[in-house]
Amino acid sequence: MLRFTCPVCRAPLWDMGTMLKCPKGHSYDKNKKGYINLAMSASSAKKRHGDDKTMVLSRREFLEKGYYSPLRDEICRTAQTLSAQRIGLLDVGCGEGWYTSGVKNHLEAMGKTVDALGIDISRDALQEAHKRDASLLLAVAGANRLPVPDGECQLILSIFAPLFPEEFCRILAPEGLLIRAVPLREHLFGLKKAVYDEPYYNPPMDADLAGLRLVNQAEVRYTLKLETNADILSLFKMTPYYYKTGREDQAKLAQLDSLETELAFGVWTYQK
Ligand SMILES: [Zn+2]
Repeated sequence: MLRFTCPVCRAPLWDMGTMLKCPKGHSYDKNKKGYINLAMSASSAKKRHGDDKTMVLSRREFLEKGYYSPLRDEICRTAQTLSAQRIGLLDVGCGEGWYTSGVKNHLEAMGKTVDALGIDISRDALQEAHKRDASLLLAVAGANRLPVPDGECQLILSIFAPLFPEEFCRILAPEGLLIRAVPLREHLFGLKKAVYDEPYYNPPMDADLAGLRLVNQAEVRYTLKLETNADILSLFKMTPYYYKTGREDQAKLAQLDSLETELAFGVWTYQK
């Protein structure tokens, strides 16, 4: 059974009711919002990191409407190729848990047992993930030092999240899969056309990950039609462009009532 490990000594953490404890006595309180804090530095416990509330809620609204369901379906199809009966799943950068919970439910519907863990540095996102699915085990933690044991993950999800291949190699079980979602060249081009005078295509992503073997590259492409300004703004706010775009360009979106845009995702699968 996959469980979190102590960020100090890396021993497994045991559930003691109101807290989690390792054999050496390091303890981590469970909070009412449904996650524990396994971030290592004291400063990161206080400082705001990761997606803020606006971004988290926009993404929740948007995903809830199913606009990215074809991507999640493809991730589920890939995950179901795992032969293990019990699957330890770690979603690295799980956000508000829409993919985590969806993949878990899909595998369970196929008769598998799934221990689903999610980490993120955004507390707002973890709080929403717990509201979505109270069965998820959630922790504040960085992706550079994953709080799980060596070789016990059958499935790692990295959905538009930072990559730490060395850590992925350490935690993957022998037959385990890393499923990575990336934006392809044309992804959201219609949205960019609506905002920028000179829209640009996404630069190509490097598929090489040190120590891991690329075993499959699937593509999910479709045209998304949004019919309300609220949906358009939600999509915009969940992208990195939201923070990079000037007021004037942002104002263009406030005028729009409909938008058509290409979506183009790569779903890349790796093994050790
Ligand atoms: Zn410890």
